[in-house]
Amino acid sequence: MNALDLEGIVRAIRSALPKSDEPVQLHEPRFEGNEWPYIKECLDTRWVSSVGSYVDRFEKELAEYASVKRAVAVVNGTAALHVCLKLAGVRAGDEVIIPALTFVATANAVAYCGAIPHLADSAEATLGLDPAKLAEHLAEVAEIADGACRNRLTGRPIRAVLPMHTFGHAVDLEPLQEVCRRWKLALIEDAAESLGTFYQGRHTGNYGCLAALSFNGNKIITTGGGGAILTNDEELGRLAKHLTTTAKVPHRWEFSHDQVGFNYRMPNLNAALGCAQLEQLPGFLAAKRALAERYRAAFAGVRGIRYFSEPAGSRSNYWLNTLLLDETHADKRDAVLAAANSAGLTTRPAWTLMHRLPMFQEAPRMDLSVSESLERRILNIPSGVALGAGAPHA
Ligand SMILES: *Cc1c(COP(=O)(O)O)cnc(C)c1O
Repeated sequence: MNALDLEGIVRAIRSALPKSDEPVQLHEPRFEGNEWPYIKECLDTRWVSSVGSYVDRFEKELAEYASVKRAVAVVNGTAALHVCLKLAGVRAGDEVIIPALTFVATANAVAYCGAIPHLADSAEATLGLDPAKLAEHLAEVAEIADGACRNRLTGRPIRAVLPMHTFGHAVDLEPLQEVCRRWKLALIEDAAESLGTFYQGRHTGNYGCLAALSFNGNKIITTGGGGAILTNDEELGRLAKHLTTTAKVPHRWEFSHDQVGFNYRMPNLNAALGCAQLEQLPGFLAAKRALAERYRAAFAGVRGIRYFSEPAGSRSNYWLNTLLLDETHADKRDAVLAAANSAGLTTRPAWTLMHRLPMFQEAPRMDLSVSESLERRILNIPSGVALGAGAPHA
């Protein structure tokens, strides 16, 4: 068996990057547009908080970019997921299907509703939820009773499916929609990582009844902290706005609220940053794609590891670049991490799978062998926009 060439892997990463003696981060936000003038306008006009024109403008431009009817800007992506689940009808005691391979926010949002994450396996081709395997699993454990899906093993309703577009690569959405129709499940997309990612020509976030975006500092565009709810359903859009703005009944002076709402509205200051960032998104995507091409070329000749490319039929935003070790070299993951990080190239493993976290240990689940294999083999490498915009090292 061939040994894994650790030096070769470090060299390949470095060869795709601009020349620099500084340590290279995994992510780095970039502020080269109208950030300063827009923020200054907020300060000068004193519209920094819950009132101001940038929130409306950001929502309108975001909806246009993603080709959805309505975008509602909120304080972060986790809050967006929370409200999406509530609006999709998820209640305490329900189960919601999520991938085991995801950032903890996906599972936390389910738990905030008093619901239980039901863990599903990923597909090797997308790194996201596997529709075929989910269909098989549901055929085994679920039934339709009184027009709704029920888990025969736990007796609980299964209310929704919440796939996540891992590292900006779209889940196979059409077969997933089919599974949801068949089993009467609401489809909600965790699109936190996939702004700028298209599945069969349509922007992600258009396939579920609702979708959540994140604008955290490490995401493809940032508002400092922030998120958004996307929907093509006008009524759900109206309710999303209502629920995220304390469920206040509009009135010129009266303070009245018609349900327990949330203070999840994005402040104007953050939305100003968002407007400036959104203007630069096409450039960011081009830089990300250029960097992806360089990594792909650099790893073409390296044995035992491959660069993960966008699934057929999708156009990924390449938010976070990914290497996959061959299964035979999975035991050398930590050696690669050590070599790359020691060389100043920030490199990370995937998230710990949800069922290994203490609070989700008891979660119902299907066979998770692909997720477990991916967890052993995934390495994320430096992905900042500036790395793609600059000239490569070699
Ligand atoms: C970033 C992220 C979130 C949540 O975003 P925050 O804005 O940090 O709350 C949710 N899901 C996934 C998969 C993410 O990567």
